[in-house]
Amino acid sequence: MTNTSDRQDKLTPLEAWQATLGELQLQLAKSTFDAWLKDTTLVAAEDGVFTIGARNSYARDWLDNRMRGLVKRTLTRIVGRQVDVRFIVDAKPVESPAPKDLIGYDPSEDAQAQVNRPNGQACALNPRYTFETFVVGNGNRVPYEISRAVSERPGMAYNPLFLYGGVGLGKTHLLHAIGLNAAQRGLNVLYVPSEQFTNDLVCAIRARTTEEFRNKYRSVDVLLLDDIQFIAGKDASQEEFFHTFNALHSANRQIVVACDRPPRDVLGLDERLRSRFEGGLVVEIAPPDFAARMAILQAKSTARACSVPMPILELIAQTVETNVRELEGALNRVIAQWEALRQPPTLETTQAILKDMLPSKGRPSPEAILQAVADYFGVDPQDMLGASRKQQIALPRQIAMYLLCAETDLSLAQVGAFMGKRDHTTVLHGRDKIRDLMETDAAIRLHVQTIRERMRQPAAVRQTA
Ligand code: ADP
Ligand code: MG
Repeated sequence: MTNTSDRQDKLTPLEAWQATLGELQLQLAKSTFDAWLKDTTLVAAEDGVFTIGARNSYARDWLDNRMRGLVKRTLTRIVGRQVDVRFIVDAKPVESPAPKDLIGYDPSEDAQAQVNRPNGQACALNPRYTFETFVVGNGNRVPYEISRAVSERPGMAYNPLFLYGGVGLGKTHLLHAIGLNAAQRGLNVLYVPSEQFTNDLVCAIRARTTEEFRNKYRSVDVLLLDDIQFIAGKDASQEEFFHTFNALHSANRQIVVACDRPPRDVLGLDERLRSRFEGGLVVEIAPPDFAARMAILQAKSTARACSVPMPILELIAQTVETNVRELEGALNRVIAQWEALRQPPTLETTQAILKDMLPSKGRPSPEAILQAVADYFGVDPQDMLGASRKQQIALPRQIAMYLLCAETDLSLAQVGAFMGKRDHTTVLHGRDKIRDLMETDAAIRLHVQTIRERMRQPAAVRQTA
């Protein structure tokens, strides 16, 4: 938008990128160029930042770690002024939103580009979490259908809707899908993890801006409150949410809540809230059966333009039974290894990957740690593995590195590999920085403590009221 100063330029951004590729082709070994750069695309060029699309996340990370400096220097020379580059995945997956919608997605920017809210605020909806990318099977068919209906006629039926189920079964995905659908039709949508609701409230009370807080939450058409179990026991938040709830509900605005267990099992949940929830529709998302797990794996490998052999998918579906996120994680590892070694996976290599993934007793898995940090800060785990240097992403990333070092047996190099192919010195730096901050910064200490507690909460154990 703002990159067209007067001297800019004889070259369009696309021409500049093509010229850069031409130069790099001369400078680099053919195998390197062909493997990593040949298939890249110019996705956007704005404000002096060239956004370059790579085929998959592995290629993106490789480019970011090894090529960023060279690409940036070459491009800067060709354009004739200082520019920056960033790499994103531009794989044009099947049944995903158009690539354009993915450009620049960063939950910290709250996806302003995709969701134009009438009142000008942005809501953090992940454009990847749509109904189209949600694979329907046994276990999630009913919640899927109900969510669709709610997104089409918000406030008309099933209000409030209470979705519950174990970790990694698609609750957040469905909330976002509802939000995206409703926002697309011009409705004012607000998605908020209950953690953030609490934080917002605390800040508002401190800053004496509770009036604005109330306006924000009570002016929406659709309120999506995620992980409401974390609001339980917090009296001020529950009180405030109760009033928010009533204001919205009496105006026929839609409320959708996600939780890791049914209302009656949430210890410390305000009785009035519990009865409000039970007065609406309470729906369980159950773990997928084998056929559903296979369908999910097939959809995900197709989306990544990878035809993983059927026996491999079956082995994964047999081994990872209760968590779609882990199912996806296992598939990602198999594909990453395939790309790195350029050898198709075998049952043996897959078995080794799966064995490596399963947490030793009582210890959180690396995936669980990453997810706990991501959930706490309300960011996308994929972004933490990516290249963003924004503080909203960089801090969670460093905390994840700290926790991975502290809570698992992984070496620095393994943590680096897990965190998006980063160098072990990067991990060392991140770990030590958090360790030092914990000595001096109470807020950081609290972040880390809270996340630690969360990670240890076994998802399967239900509290009983
Ligand atoms: P939860 O909020 O229940 O813990 P998420 O919604 O975060 O789970 O889902 C975890 C991951 O699994 C996300 O990447 C999500 O897109 C994916 N996922 C879950 N269920 C499905 C499904 N039925 N089809 C496709 N992807 C799914
Ligand atoms: Mg969730």
